[in-house]
Amino acid sequence: MPPPFIIPIFIAHQGCPQQCLFCNQRGITGASEDMVGPGEIEAIIRAQLTWPRRYPTAPVQVAFYGGSFTGLAIERQRELLGAVQPFLAAGQVQEIRLSTRPDYVTSEIACFLREHGVGIVELGAQSLDDGVLAASGRGHTAAQVRTAVACLKEAGMQVGLQLMLGLPGERTVTALASARQAAALNPDLIRLYPCLVIAGSPLAELYRQGQYLPLTLSQAVILAARLWSIFQERLIPVVRMGLQPSAALEKTLLAGPYHPAFGELVLSRIFFNKVRALLAGRQHQQPHCLCLAKADESIYRGRDNGNVKRLAALGLLNGVETVFSASQPRQTVVLCEK
Ligand code: SF4
Repeated sequence: MPPPFIIPIFIAHQGCPQQCLFCNQRGITGASEDMVGPGEIEAIIRAQLTWPRRYPTAPVQVAFYGGSFTGLAIERQRELLGAVQPFLAAGQVQEIRLSTRPDYVTSEIACFLREHGVGIVELGAQSLDDGVLAASGRGHTAAQVRTAVACLKEAGMQVGLQLMLGLPGERTVTALASARQAAALNPDLIRLYPCLVIAGSPLAELYRQGQYLPLTLSQAVILAARLWSIFQERLIPVVRMGLQPSAALEKTLLAGPYHPAFGELVLSRIFFNKVRALLAGRQHQQPHCLCLAKADESIYRGRDNGNVKRLAALGLLNGVETVFSASQPRQTVVLCEK
């Protein structure tokens, strides 16, 4: 199944009751906080439907991102969703997706969204630890995340959970516990974002005062790899790791584990962990073949061939021939005797 073609519509900060400590949607996306109207939405959709697509048969989704959709007045929600209805009716758009806060989801809201063609709701859960949520000024609890997931599933929608790494008050143990609790909710997808210090966010002030220290890039990559494995064990897809790179983000970034290819760094780390575990357990006297998918070669090698150099430095590649095969499924590693 090809990934959906997503037409994003940014409603920066709209519907949010306050500003969470780490957030500055305008800085991250470059989107204005002006109210987008139905005419504008229609124009955006029409324009993007004409764009060339990598997967022409992929479903088309209109996504309302960047705010708390269900925190908007119900008339405004109806107006925004209404602008997409003609495209749904014509079969040009298959589904609507949106992001919102967990504490702004009830059974009634979930049914309302479903009736208006919403198929996927992404909840900004950020953490399932009440201490971390409070320290991050989120204004909701972990219990409210669980309730929201239940309401959305009950209404027949897919649920995504967005989690943040390195929030104020978070330690590795709380991040891992939080991910396990998130996985237990069996969401349909996960997004992992390292916490960054963005100019204009309340966190920027704490950072300036020395009261918040972001993760280093290396810490964030290692932690994200551990979280990814937790979701992988339950076959829950992690559809994104790291914020979408943009000129606006890079201009407002003050500190934190930002890298334009953060997800690739994490996958590379995951490959390193997998291959190291496999090779460490082999009988050294036997020559072996290490087989990987051809499409995974650059991620396996890592930046500047770093993974291969580290494995070689550990002596783990002695007597090992590495084979990249087009027929091997992606993200799999097989070790066999020659
Ligand atoms: S993190 Fe979400 S809820 Fe908080 S201010 Fe940003 S968009 Fe609004």
